[in-house]
Amino acid sequence: MNNAPEDYRHAPIRCVICGATMDRLQRGDAVIDRCPTCGGMWIDWYDGDAVGVLQGLPESGGQVEGQRSSECPRCRGALLPEPFRDDGPEVFRCNQCFGMFVPGEAVGIIAALRDKSADRTALGRWIERVLWKSD
Ligand SMILES: [Zn+2]
Ligand SMILES: [Zn+2]
Repeated sequence: MNNAPEDYRHAPIRCVICGATMDRLQRGDAVIDRCPTCGGMWIDWYDGDAVGVLQGLPESGGQVEGQRSSECPRCRGALLPEPFRDDGPEVFRCNQCFGMFVPGEAVGIIAALRDKSADRTALGRWIERVLWKSD
């Protein structure tokens, strides 16, 4: 094969869910791919934390009927379903390049996860306050 590393990084990829050609999207240091049809997102492993990358993106998506691919759009490895952070919505992880595909309906759910950890921090502060008061 004559895939130079740069081609690997810059070649357009096809949506895992619906097969549409995905748009490139610059998010800070990260470049992710977004499906214009179903709102699915592809995040390469080196693009960092999915919650941060997905946060602030416009709500998108909607169900698209189609044959879901079980092949990594990047490297043709096997895409395996897994829950995001153990109890989150289902995402698909490549077992070779560790890229992650986030279905459109899961994007908003994952983007909201940071709010939950902010809540936890607020709760932690509240507990601290209560403990400090009750001595
Ligand atoms: Zn799609
Ligand atoms: Zn892959």
